[in-house]
Amino acid sequence: MLGRLARVLRIMGFDTLYFRSERDIEILARCLKESRILLTADRHLQALAKGWGLRSVLLPSEKLDPWSRGLKIIKGLNLEGCVTPFSRCPKCNGPMETVPREDLVGFVHPYVWNRNKYFVVCKECGQIYWEGSHVKRIREKLGLEHP
Ligand SMILES: [Zn+2]
Repeated sequence: MLGRLARVLRIMGFDTLYFRSERDIEILARCLKESRILLTADRHLQALAKGWGLRSVLLPSEKLDPWSRGLKIIKGLNLEGCVTPFSRCPKCNGPMETVPREDLVGFVHPYVWNRNKYFVVCKECGQIYWEGSHVKRIREKLGLEHP
């Protein structure tokens, strides 16, 4: 469940790490070293974070979809002005860069290439993204205009 939230936060442009099996101390040390805000559903971990002087948010178990949840968190942290949609790879958190369409001939299906003007590529994992129908829905959720 929090994995989907992490993807949503990345799509909004937030540098978001997602820990699955790391020990608490490793998570806290990373947050401290990189000045990260800890989002957790684990009360014990949040209490430890407070002890370390870290900013943290305890995520209640709620039936909100990840988008509503993400927007609620961003608003609660007063980070609405920091939303930079599609600047982070939802898959790996790597930064994205716009790539000229011509550079992607042969790298995306001709159907996709012919139907899209804008492409971005993750600098970390190389994943190629384009403005599909899901992006239009995301823009609507974030209240953004189409470019
Ligand atoms: Zn990536």
